[in-house]
Amino acid sequence: MTRQRRPRPRMKYLQCQRCNRMAIIHRRPGRDRRKGHYKHLWCPTCEKRTKHKEIGEEFDVAAQSMEQGMA
Ligand SMILES: [Zn+2]
Repeated sequence: MTRQRRPRPRMKYLQCQRCNRMAIIHRRPGRDRRKGHYKHLWCPTCEKRTKHKEIGEEFDVAAQSMEQGMA
């Protein structure tokens, strides 16, 4: 049984803890961080590096339906 995994980058959503602006970053698979992790990013609204909270990533719908089909 062969399972193909496409190494496409995932999008993660982070929120500025100062102005609540949403930021999207791309992270390569394999180095996942848990939800709720804090990261310092440049915020264009605050015009400085601020604390951002990770609030999640895009759903991997394809992988989910694949697992259901195999069950
Ligand atoms: Zn901000």
